[in-house]
Amino acid sequence: MSSKPQPVDLFAQQLPLETRQSVMSSGASRTAGRKAVLENDFSDPDALRRLAGQIKQHTLDHLDQYLEQAEASLQKAGAAVYYAADAKAARRRIRLILEEREIHRVVKAKSMATEEIHLNSYLEEHGIECVETDLGEFIVQLDGDTPSHIVQPIIHKNRRQVASAFESHGLGEFNDDPEVITQRARAHLRTKYFKSGAGITGANFVSAESGRLVLVTNEGNARFSLAPNSVHIALVGIEKVVPRDQDLAVFLNLLARSATGQQLTVYTQFINGPKASSQPSGPREMHVIFLDNGRGDILDSNCREILRCIRCGACQNVCPVYRQASGHAYRATYGGPVGAVLSPLLSGSNFVDLADLPKASSLCGACREVCPVDIPIPDMLLKLRNRAHLLGLKTRHVPSMEPFVKLATKPALWKMAMILGKAIDLLPLKMQKLPGIQEWLKLRTLPSWKGGEFRRWMKKHQRRKGKGKRV
Ligand code: SF4
Repeated sequence: MSSKPQPVDLFAQQLPLETRQSVMSSGASRTAGRKAVLENDFSDPDALRRLAGQIKQHTLDHLDQYLEQAEASLQKAGAAVYYAADAKAARRRIRLILEEREIHRVVKAKSMATEEIHLNSYLEEHGIECVETDLGEFIVQLDGDTPSHIVQPIIHKNRRQVASAFESHGLGEFNDDPEVITQRARAHLRTKYFKSGAGITGANFVSAESGRLVLVTNEGNARFSLAPNSVHIALVGIEKVVPRDQDLAVFLNLLARSATGQQLTVYTQFINGPKASSQPSGPREMHVIFLDNGRGDILDSNCREILRCIRCGACQNVCPVYRQASGHAYRATYGGPVGAVLSPLLSGSNFVDLADLPKASSLCGACREVCPVDIPIPDMLLKLRNRAHLLGLKTRHVPSMEPFVKLATKPALWKMAMILGKAIDLLPLKMQKLPGIQEWLKLRTLPSWKGGEFRRWMKKHQRRKGKGKRV
């Protein structure tokens, strides 16, 4: 930790109401879909989540061994394998592969690892056009924006904003019909697939046993990115390895259900090396780059379980803070509960810049309940808060809890505050004239005062319990 500890801003920006509504409604519907499909399809979904967590943890505990096995299996299948210690090394490796083959345009299927290393801008700087082919990522690229959700990159945009982006980039007159938008993107992207020299992807999983690389998409864009091209480059986080092919059944059963409430994504691709006599189509070359970029340090830390993450986004969908703030508020590639842990850890010596993120949680535990690999996210948030505390970092814009502590630990004072609190119901009309509060009330309605309800409930409950005993 070389940087000087600085106070950091916690979610300093106010999110527009329209954006918050998009994020909230999408998060709520995905969460409901996840619950319905898991409960409908499995008698004990939690047992499956625990099993998935155990498989991932076992893999992490023996990662050296499984990485070596994956490397050997991939090479046996005809792929070239590289390791990149950091983002710089990964970017350079990709550029060298492309430059050696005089490739000046690539198509890219959605990959968070390539977002993490900021590949697009780097390739553009070196004269290589990089076209995003996932619809959401394509729109993000058109707008010069960044994804705000792991699975739904444009969760923060509505269809009117998308239609405007298409119009301003010459992709037809304004039309916010989703079918028209999709058809236009499809027509535009199809020309790009055939004019590029390489397809770049990430990987959802890599089987150490067989070297099979698994890609899941709902749009088929990963297939299109690879089919007409002679070179496939896959950038894969080292934690994406799983021991055996049969383990994939556990993860594939959980991934789509947790992410989108689907039983399976529309396209699930198993890639077993480049084009060969046993495999007549596909790219002639396959290059797999295993990316560390801070993961080794996380593995040695007390937050290693975060590397079990299979990037489903369920914790983002359910998180009350993410639903209010959206992904950009986290100022990093990974947002939401997973990002509040992963982003500061991946930032290495820049930990201080993101050390406020673990505070962006009410610690309600909803993220842990939905996580398909049973990651104890709230425990890690506390560990990271403690790390920031030990480094002497302070967070600006967070009111002190001291007055509340004084009030809550003095019963007589608390009781009086409950009675006085009722006066708040009479205030809103006057408060609307106050600067600051006026802005706040534009976005929210002041709820009616409920103070004292719990005490009344408790008294009633105890009376009933007492009566029960006498009977
Ligand atoms: S932490 Fe768990 S719930 Fe969140 S994205 Fe990762 S796997 Fe999904």
